[in-house]
Amino acid sequence: MSLRAAEGKVNGKQQTAVLKVILLVLALLLVYWFFWGQRKRDASDKPPEGNTSVSPEQMVVCAHCQLHVPESECVKAAGRHYCCEEHCKLGPS
Ligand SMILES: [Zn+2]
Repeated sequence: MSLRAAEGKVNGKQQTAVLKVILLVLALLLVYWFFWGQRKRDASDKPPEGNTSVSPEQMVVCAHCQLHVPESECVKAAGRHYCCEEHCKLGPS
């Protein structure tokens, strides 16, 4: 009554047939899931207004060269943002 004995009764052909069906179902599920996920992503491309949580990081504009830099990488001085120390020293353009 061991598992090995039960496996022995099911011959190889039957086993591969079952495996093929399982793989086919899995493949169909994957394809369905992929397309469904893509459609969902397309729909979420246009988030409702006011939803700022989509962007992972706030972008700021350099007061000197107007370059967009992530807030964590910018240099802050006197309430202004700069892309680098040099522009910080130079000040707003
Ligand atoms: Zn700059």
